[in-house]
Amino acid sequence: MSLPYEEPLIPRPPGPRRIPEPPRRGEPGGPPCAICTGKTTAAVWSDEHWTLHPPVGGSLPGAVWLASRVHVDSFSDLPEPLAADFGRVAARVERSLTLGDVARVHLYRWGDGGAHFHVWFLPRPLVWEDALPNVTNEELAAAAERVAAAMD
Ligand SMILES: [Zn+2]
Repeated sequence: MSLPYEEPLIPRPPGPRRIPEPPRRGEPGGPPCAICTGKTTAAVWSDEHWTLHPPVGGSLPGAVWLASRVHVDSFSDLPEPLAADFGRVAARVERSLTLGDVARVHLYRWGDGGAHFHVWFLPRPLVWEDALPNVTNEELAAAAERVAAAMD
């Protein structure tokens, strides 16, 4: 993979931690939910449970984000039928994005800005993960073990 910058990059120290984090859009004490109040891009597709939106200011044509119609925060908050339906609709979005010259589709869910469930579909990899320093394989394995233990 060829990165779109010259090396070496110079890391900046992180800013001060804010604990607790400030409320996000759509959370108690935060600004109103942009999705529920229609302050986002208009949906380019929808069904009874989901809406699909284009981004603004992006550099990846074909990038879209899928939101639930119901205001819930994350996968764990989705009603069971919607959680099951997510796979069906994600596959439809992926198939739609792999038309033409796109070989892979990446899905991302952050939820840092807003508390309304939405997942990004990107038609090619982002570079930011490659810019972060690696942690040890032992740290990766230990973190995966904690995730596995919580799956029970
Ligand atoms: Zn909402």
